[in-house]
Amino acid sequence: MHIWLAKITVLLANIVMIAIRAPHGQRSRSVPVVRSLRGRLELALLTIAWPAFFLPLIWVVTPVLEFADYPLRAIPYFAGTVCLALGLWLFHRSHVDLGTNWSVTLEVREKHRLVTEGVYRRVRHPMYSALLLYSVGQALVLPNYIAGPSYGLAMALLVALRVGPEERMMLEEFGKDYEEYMARTNRVVPGVW
Ligand code: SAH
Repeated sequence: MHIWLAKITVLLANIVMIAIRAPHGQRSRSVPVVRSLRGRLELALLTIAWPAFFLPLIWVVTPVLEFADYPLRAIPYFAGTVCLALGLWLFHRSHVDLGTNWSVTLEVREKHRLVTEGVYRRVRHPMYSALLLYSVGQALVLPNYIAGPSYGLAMALLVALRVGPEERMMLEEFGKDYEEYMARTNRVVPGVW
């Protein structure tokens, strides 16, 4: 398969992802933050996530990572496209359900509401599930040893190190309601984790 197919798919997926987030990000920013846990760990995780997000785009538009390319095969390409599409759908749904309670980091906003419905009904972190699914898709579609897995590695690190502090913050904020919510849901994968 021609590498341009991968380049177009990766570019489109990244544009869709930015387009999904942009209006929600803008709306959330208009709601004041009343509590922030943006410590050194959060700063480090976000500092890793941004370059990891842009590496695939650098691969699309420049030849600098060409030395780490490998041939594009049909099965990983199609499987990856399915993961990308599902990941983007879940990313969109979780933004819609979370509404203005969304933050790029660990924050509580004015009139913060605990969301437990929609895609939050069975898992507590559907947006992280979406980002992981998207990352797997990108790693399969993008035939480059560096740009392919870069976002996935950053997201895996972010999810692994952030869910604990995030859940502690939600417990402090919503007490028994979050405790009950935890008892009936999984973290990232329904019925698994
Ligand atoms: N971890 C969630 C949300 C990611 S955005 C997910 O993967 O879907 C991070 C922000 O969402 C946190 O700052 C927290 O304030 C908020 N948040 C997380 N779970 C929430 C919930 N169930 N209801 C409302 N806000 C939530």
